[in-house]
Amino acid sequence: MDILQNNIAIEVEDLTVAYHHTPVLWDIDVSIEKGAISAIIGPNGAGKSTLLKSMLSLIPISSGTISFFGNPLKKMRRHVAYVPQRSEVDWDFPTTVVDVVTMGSYGALGWITPPGKKERKLAMEALEKVGMEAFANRQIRELSGGQQQRTFIARALVQDASIYLMDEPFAGVDAATEQSIIEVLRELRANGKTLVIVHHDLLTVKEYFTHVILLNVHTIASGPVHTTFTTENLQKTYKGKFNALKGGIDELIV
Ligand code: ADP
Repeated sequence: MDILQNNIAIEVEDLTVAYHHTPVLWDIDVSIEKGAISAIIGPNGAGKSTLLKSMLSLIPISSGTISFFGNPLKKMRRHVAYVPQRSEVDWDFPTTVVDVVTMGSYGALGWITPPGKKERKLAMEALEKVGMEAFANRQIRELSGGQQQRTFIARALVQDASIYLMDEPFAGVDAATEQSIIEVLRELRANGKTLVIVHHDLLTVKEYFTHVILLNVHTIASGPVHTTFTTENLQKTYKGKFNALKGGIDELIV
């Protein structure tokens, strides 16, 4: 049986993560349906990036289990793509845009086989999708923030994963880039992919996402946007800080 048929794409159970013995995620339970586009929402320091990194085994977990279509990551690695925060990457590294994107296919190729013509063609197609084909041979240090982000999205597309985990893909990009990224994400979803995205802008949650995970060290709530993205849950998530949001919260609520 095709393992990707399972209706639950990601299952996180009883996850606790600590940095230097201080828990930053505590007893997290999250279940993500196949084909959902989920936002992880919460204040700074809530553990949003840590949740993605622990799903990817990039940091050690204290306890709990994480599975992708019912399997551990080590069996599913090629099905899971990650777009890290831009700030986590060394953009001075001397390499070109097309090389960065081509490297996205390493997961499928394995480290031994070097990428060939076919992988380069796929990389160029992905760059076209994000409007970056004209920049293929540029050094990555010459890119603007929005172009860096588009390059990352192209790299994830080349991986042809089933699950995409993205850490703030819209941070610091202009409106045109945000629009082109959301179009790519919608296309991925239309093709049956599952997307989990750390997101900051509460105003676009209803428009962009089907599901939301409200996080503040604990899972405050998790589920479809229309039942979960409520005033009560947002107040619990942001506590006192919520009042500081411009424009009040009522217009944000479903
Ligand atoms: P968010 O993405 O919601 O802003 P993070 O997951 O980045 O939150 O961080 C959660 C908490 O863990 C914060 O208090 C942060 O200071 C701490 N933290 C994150 N990374 C590290 C690290 N490498 N070492 C120590 N503490 C960290």
